[in-house]
Amino acid sequence: ALSLIAIDGPSGVGKSTTARRVASRLGWQYLDTGAMYRTAALAVHRAGLDLADRAGLERLLAGLDLAQEGTRIFLAGEDVSEAIRSQDVTRGVTPVSADARVREVLVEQQRRIGASGRWVVDGRDIGTVVFPTACCKIFLTASPEARARRRLLELEAKGQSPVFAEVLADQRRRDEADSTRAVAPLRPAEDATTLDSSDLTLDEVVDWIVARHQA
Ligand code: C5P
Repeated sequence: ALSLIAIDGPSGVGKSTTARRVASRLGWQYLDTGAMYRTAALAVHRAGLDLADRAGLERLLAGLDLAQEGTRIFLAGEDVSEAIRSQDVTRGVTPVSADARVREVLVEQQRRIGASGRWVVDGRDIGTVVFPTACCKIFLTASPEARARRRLLELEAKGQSPVFAEVLADQRRRDEADSTRAVAPLRPAEDATTLDSSDLTLDEVVDWIVARHQA
């Protein structure tokens, strides 16, 4: 099996923080595939492209220059790490990540990156589609309320004043879109281990994955 840990799960479950910490504990590299979809969505938005314009989309995808260095994400050399976390991009990413052609191109890039070295990769379809032969597949879940509570704290830490009901509703919309789309819907791989983190701390989740991997 491929030396790669796939961490899939819904929005707001703490996949990226978990994956980053697991990678650092094991001395492996970390790939954030959600950031790739976000960057593609940013590029589509900046180009003012309508996804119905298939020739335009092909041109954009052919020239799409994405890179991740450590925790920073680059689009054609520009650091877009903050820009891809904006609310506009978070909303606009849903149709872009549901586009079969966009997924084809990004999945190919992900496979190329993961082919050499050891990786911890987080996303929605890593264990099911991108790296079905990964040695370790974790499906990280938490109750909608637990995820919304964490998101709320995160936004408050950024100085915002979010409303719990709105955060929960927004999250529900994304869960629904991710799990009902035609291409690569969110679901656990058959050989994935589901870990419910509702009542676990981040450290407990990281320890659990690292211990399991070293076993
Ligand atoms: O994980 P994150 O919220 O950054 O992902 C951004 C968006 O990209 C999500 O809404 C999700 O629909 C999509 N995504 C995906 N496949 C992945 C990773 C993310 O469709 N492997």
